[in-house]
Amino acid sequence: MKVNYHTHTTRCMHAKGSDEDFVKAAIEAGFDRIGFSDHTPWNYQGFVSGMRMHKAELPGYVGSVRALQEKYRGQIEILLGLECEFFRPRLDWLKEQIAQYGLDYIILGHHFSKDEPRGTYNGSLHTPAQLRTYAQDVLDAMDSGLFAYIAHPDIFMRGYPVFDKTCERISRAIIEKALATDTPLEFNLLGLSHGNADGKQGYPFPAFWRMAGEAHVKAIVGVDAHQPAAYLDTAKFDWACETLRWLGAEPVTEIRLFSQPK
Ligand SMILES: [Zn+2]
Ligand SMILES: [Zn+2]
Repeated sequence: MKVNYHTHTTRCMHAKGSDEDFVKAAIEAGFDRIGFSDHTPWNYQGFVSGMRMHKAELPGYVGSVRALQEKYRGQIEILLGLECEFFRPRLDWLKEQIAQYGLDYIILGHHFSKDEPRGTYNGSLHTPAQLRTYAQDVLDAMDSGLFAYIAHPDIFMRGYPVFDKTCERISRAIIEKALATDTPLEFNLLGLSHGNADGKQGYPFPAFWRMAGEAHVKAIVGVDAHQPAAYLDTAKFDWACETLRWLGAEPVTEIRLFSQPK
């Protein structure tokens, strides 16, 4: 089984290609199952995010993915999801959308701490207190049982200068909670292609994944496709699966779904 549950669409304003082009690329690359998990809208009042669909676009997104699911039935299995932060005051609204649109799953992509308007971007943290806030959100997200897996759990190393004692402590806490709640952690291929051109290692961060491997976490490779061509780098995908096994993690292909796939 070759799967990827992390696919975006142009609705988030930083992706390229038609929804269908992602499906065609996934078929070409030999995937058996993919999931769309574009950046979720939120119930913002007055604030307009520059990195996610507007809530008025959600029905169109759902309709498009469901139509592709039908069109490509028998060739590739397509699931409908969203990538969501853990914004406590907005979770009830999110749960309503999940129920209303019959989403198959959501993944945690915790880009901001507390909230997006006036929140802190978790890829540019620089104090231990910020790390602890990030970690607490991720732990609570796993306890909520809402999330099929945790995308780029090590996003904090995109900005944090060194993997210090606090990084080690929060990584340990995230890994232990992943084990306790049976939640896979994502090895993110988009982060891998960021490289370290800006002098930062970013994610997947080696020290985090060495710890995760030693603890034998369930791990999932996420293409985090923001363009159809991301699917075609199958050498990178295969390398990631190999690396996870070598580290001691357990690569998985199944995730918890809200519903049986339609
Ligand atoms: Zn994105
Ligand atoms: Zn993503």
